Amino acid sequence: MHHCLLEIIVCPVCHGKLNYNKDNFELTCNFDHLAYPIRNGIPVLLKNEARQLPLDDRQ
Ligand SMILES: [Zn+2]
Repeated sequence: MHHCLLEIIVCPVCHGKLNYNKDNFELTCNFDHLAYPIRNGIPVLLKNEARQLPLDDRQ
């Protein structure tokens, strides 16, 4: 994913900055502990699609 794209993508819940997890192809929010999937190169920024991260697994 291009770095510039990451700068304009924010969490739909808290509008905070997201972190790209290239191992899992996810965008993670450290504030909500949610991980948004990236499908076919397109980030799915929907709370319903997000995975809840365990509190001790944050980056
Ligand atoms: Zn958030």
